[in-house]
Amino acid sequence: MTISERLQSEKVKINDCPFCGCKLSEFPYVMIVQPVRSDEYLLAKLNKGDFLGGENGYHVHCINCGASGGRDTIPEVAINKWNRRVTL
Ligand SMILES: [Zn+2]
Repeated sequence: MTISERLQSEKVKINDCPFCGCKLSEFPYVMIVQPVRSDEYLLAKLNKGDFLGGENGYHVHCINCGASGGRDTIPEVAINKWNRRVTL
């Protein structure tokens, strides 16, 4: 089972983007919950080993405006971080 299939079966809710209002829940999870592969992440990994928590994490990425949520190695937790930020 892929991560997006698991999220689908658990019906994990993703809140709208707080920056542009994009309704992320209308898009497939695979487009929204993405592995963290930013330059910043790769450099930190290169320089500090497990500085950002070891293996690749995930974050929620707004496909409309590019905003991204908190990182976590567990996709569900990354979604929770995104959702928390929305409600703040
Ligand atoms: Zn957005």
